[in-house]
Amino acid sequence: LNEKNKINVRGVICAYVSLSLFQADRSRRKLPLPPPEDDDEGEGSLGVVAMYDFTAKEDTDLTLKQGEEYIILHKQDQLWWRFWCGSEMSISYLSGCLVIVFQDKEGGFVVRESSQKGVYIVSVYSKTLGLGGDIRHYQIKKTDTGQFFLAEKYTFSSIPDVIHYHEHNAAGLVTRLRYAVGPMGRCVPATSGFSSEKWEINPCELTFMKELGSGQFGLVKLGKWRAQQKVAIKAIREGAMCEEDFIEEAKVMMRLCHPKLVQLYGVCLQQRPLLIVAEFMENGCLLNFLRQRGRSLRDAWLLSMCQDVCEGMEYLETHSFIHRDLAARNCLVSEHNVVKVSDFGMTRYVLDNQYTSSSGAKFPVKWSPPEVLHYSRYSSKSDVWSFGVVMWEIYSDGRTPFENRSNLEVVNDITRGIRLYRPYRASHSLYSIMYSCWHEKPQGRPPFSELLADIRKLAENPD
Ligand code: ADP
Repeated sequence: LNEKNKINVRGVICAYVSLSLFQADRSRRKLPLPPPEDDDEGEGSLGVVAMYDFTAKEDTDLTLKQGEEYIILHKQDQLWWRFWCGSEMSISYLSGCLVIVFQDKEGGFVVRESSQKGVYIVSVYSKTLGLGGDIRHYQIKKTDTGQFFLAEKYTFSSIPDVIHYHEHNAAGLVTRLRYAVGPMGRCVPATSGFSSEKWEINPCELTFMKELGSGQFGLVKLGKWRAQQKVAIKAIREGAMCEEDFIEEAKVMMRLCHPKLVQLYGVCLQQRPLLIVAEFMENGCLLNFLRQRGRSLRDAWLLSMCQDVCEGMEYLETHSFIHRDLAARNCLVSEHNVVKVSDFGMTRYVLDNQYTSSSGAKFPVKWSPPEVLHYSRYSSKSDVWSFGVVMWEIYSDGRTPFENRSNLEVVNDITRGIRLYRPYRASHSLYSIMYSCWHEKPQGRPPFSELLADIRKLAENPD
């Protein structure tokens, strides 16, 4: 601890937290490979607010209370930060997806639900408050006639209208609301691993409950970790996976942490079958979800599913991580119907020619661009092509693309410039977004960041 921190934190305890408990502005940075032991980046204090309650799982973790403020002293790495939160020194960790980081930005703000259901709070950061800046919390109140307000004189019919007004007028707040520092997710995000130190999970701490499905690598079961946290456990069938390579890569994959990616929690390495432990997704695979419930979903919901997938993919793109097998069958749906991308990068460890060779019967030909079909050239832009097909699946209630065509016919069609038709539920502007993913040349396709901006625009102004 240096003097500066001691002054800034006004006598509180030092602890570590995982970034998955925050909404940090991490998306633009590359992940370290391999994870560093220590990292001087981020030295100095930084105010954050816990977005979610979180119960510590290890002695070195920090229990978080939603809405409470914490001050980062040191970013151990991109995912776990050391925090100052009391009056004595102790070392613990906090997960970064569960808090919001104000990044020293005047007017950085977030709207969050308080622990009291239905009550919303605006937390806003201002440099003008005390030494090193501070955070103020304002409750959004309601008049007798159902109007919302932060400042009594300015009432509005909705919370977004209140926020919009205060984006331009402080009107009694410590500053106007300048930067939204991260939208609150629809559910508590998964942390990157169970603690800051472990990626290997003790199999004695796992209990198995029921079978969820089976895939290329073997059976997937619902289980519990330490008798309390539900997890999905994949038991790798003997001979199905190039295990050594996967184990090396798993360390990197665990550090990919985003609310729209199915979190890899860890692996059990000491016994066979090898176990992969991941975030449990209550509503199973997106493809089945679309087939069973697609027709009953409103159009806005379909678009928000596309946006979920695009957000997860944009995160992978920023971290130069290629999925290689993006399809509705490799996305999963959470309890709150948030769609998350799963199985990223996993095809590299499949030992099955039928799956890995582009002429194999299990190769995802209908999701692949020409350069993959002809030259096995994978890139984030080949993922973009697959994303266009996922959008098509979402708007077609989970129908199979090129339904009545064989893989060989599809290769010929794609090479001749033939593309999937517009699904009847997709508007022309939505179709033009998915169609842009199918440009013959990778460089002609937009990056995920651009697709995401287009989808967000469409969500704001549906036609
Ligand atoms: P593989 O990677 O071996 O091909 P999958 O990931 O496709 O296996 O999983 C097979 C099935 O198991 C999925 O279709 C889904 O129904 C279920 N499943 C897999 N992972 C999860 C999870 N994290 N949460 C809930 N269900 C899951």
